[in-house]
Amino acid sequence: MKKIWIGTSWKMNKDAASAASWAAAVEQAVERSDGRVQPFVIPPFPYLSQMAQTINAEAIQLGAQNMCWQDSGAFTGEVSPLMLKDCGVSIVEIGHSERRAMFGETDNTVNLKVLAALKHGLTPLVCVGDTADEKKWSVSVESVVRQVKIALFDVPFDKVTDVILAYEPVWAIGEGGTPATKEEAETVHRAIRDALVECYGQETADSVVLLYGGSVNLTNASELLDQVNIDGVFVGRTAWDAEGYVELLSIANSKLEH
Ligand code: PEP
Repeated sequence: MKKIWIGTSWKMNKDAASAASWAAAVEQAVERSDGRVQPFVIPPFPYLSQMAQTINAEAIQLGAQNMCWQDSGAFTGEVSPLMLKDCGVSIVEIGHSERRAMFGETDNTVNLKVLAALKHGLTPLVCVGDTADEKKWSVSVESVVRQVKIALFDVPFDKVTDVILAYEPVWAIGEGGTPATKEEAETVHRAIRDALVECYGQETADSVVLLYGGSVNLTNASELLDQVNIDGVFVGRTAWDAEGYVELLSIANSKLEH
């Protein structure tokens, strides 16, 4: 059975003290979790080293919110894969819709970052999503599959299972977002899986982890996790409070009880 992934990105939130108290509050729940539940947390860059020193990396994986595809050089303001590894990071989030919309991330730079992450043994967590207009025009699947195919351009068969894909509808994430229904989410996840089958074959496609993100809360998490092609959830607001994150872990753990 595949693991159930329960992760959160803090975006540009928290400070050193609240990062420490979040880590302390989730520690026991993370340690108690079934080994088939995989927690991860993605703090802002300045707290990565602090978090690496406080959390048990065996129990909860540490991620970064972005990186450059270059190893080093004249790239002011950027952070390299090697630096992330130095800080104890194992996952790197790539292509979040806020980075695409506000900071010039493109499908092409997403692909360069995916290839660089894989080269350095980091797990790329690639976010893809449709806009509200694309949903209205009924081209959600086309848009998301296109993003997936470009993100994975030149990723070989033996590396694609190291990539995690997160379907995050732009209309669902953040304040004012409306969560996708389980049917809406599963339809796009199924289309992503089918695209992976087309490119890599069934067995490899089935091993790729697909997460859903966008207004996941304590009410809808369970039914989302029940969907055949949803292997976990990637959560913002609900998981910023340690209690919310712990509750999400317990929902995931309950899926494994029978
Ligand atoms: C996100 O922005 O990636 C996200 C999942 O946020 P939220 O859960 O707050 O909608």
